[in-house]
Amino acid sequence: MTARILSGAEIARQTSSQLEHEVAILKSAGITPGLVAILVGENPASRIYVRRKTEACAALGLSSEIIELPAETTTMKLVKVIQELNARDQIDGILVQLPLPSHVNAKEALLAIDPAKDVDGLHPVNVGNLVTGRPGMVPCTAAGIIEILTRSGIPIEGTHAVVVGRSEMVGKPVALLLLQRNATVTICHSRTERLPSLASQADILIAAIGKPSLIRWDYIKEGATVIDVGMNRLTREDEVRAAFHEPEEALEKLATKGSVLIGDVQPEDARDKAGAVTPVPGGVGLLTVAMLMANTVRAARLRRRAARTAG
Ligand code: NAP
Repeated sequence: MTARILSGAEIARQTSSQLEHEVAILKSAGITPGLVAILVGENPASRIYVRRKTEACAALGLSSEIIELPAETTTMKLVKVIQELNARDQIDGILVQLPLPSHVNAKEALLAIDPAKDVDGLHPVNVGNLVTGRPGMVPCTAAGIIEILTRSGIPIEGTHAVVVGRSEMVGKPVALLLLQRNATVTICHSRTERLPSLASQADILIAAIGKPSLIRWDYIKEGATVIDVGMNRLTREDEVRAAFHEPEEALEKLATKGSVLIGDVQPEDARDKAGAVTPVPGGVGLLTVAMLMANTVRAARLRRRAARTAG
């Protein structure tokens, strides 16, 4: 079997064209949705992620701003910056790019964000909304995974979904979203015993682990849908040889670019055993950005509606 490739680019395009219409309506009412990203310290990967998000805003006609704070910024100072952004009416979405330097209390910072502007969906109010099935902001990667499944016509209801990873940002919210859509959900993590046996029962297997090529042949049920969330950058030849069965192309890339990106799923095994799989790169990551745009537009719409109702 050769797995169908679930192209993030194609699905992100479909999502964006729907959003363009919503943005046009908001703009005709004099509203330009606005996003602010806060970057603390010097993390090259975070810088790239934030730049991609602001580029996506520009492409969609949203306004965006990056606030760069030095690495030594205290939790109190970061909270103060967030509170100032909460008070700025033209800002609809606030995102604090993670990870933060270790001395900053990320939970406290996220708690300071106005839940109505919490476009990453990590504030406890939005987490509670998700758990209780109320409308709210849903973490972008988790929402993006559902977008990929639904737009690809992959049924969720009645299936057995196995989520490997239980982070606040990906594993837990995607498990809840699958449960809401009537999948039977198993959540696995680093202490799970017999992981291959559990994973290989999945009709839908979500890998959100952060370990290159951990999900291999014996973890995958024949014909399953495999969603690879992992983004692991390999910089050494031995790592590349260990991660790929046919490493030639990846080794060439390593030689020319200095690094190779791979997911949590062994790509050749998934290609030959799964029914459908998301590529890395070009899969879930593109949807994460698309869903951030969707959350920002939604925040703009809901905030104006709330303001009208209050007035
Ligand atoms: P995380 O917070 O580090 O969580 C990783 C999860 O994997 C944890 O729950 C951990 O279990 C579990 N785990 C670790 N080793 C395991 C093992 N050997 N067997 C089973 N479970 C194991 O990571 P995350 O933020 O969820 O991100 C996961 C991956 O997705 C990373 O590669 C990240 O770069 C990528 N990511 C991609 C996007 C995107 O847009 N494509 C967005 C976010 C994240 P414990 O809880 O027991 O420690």
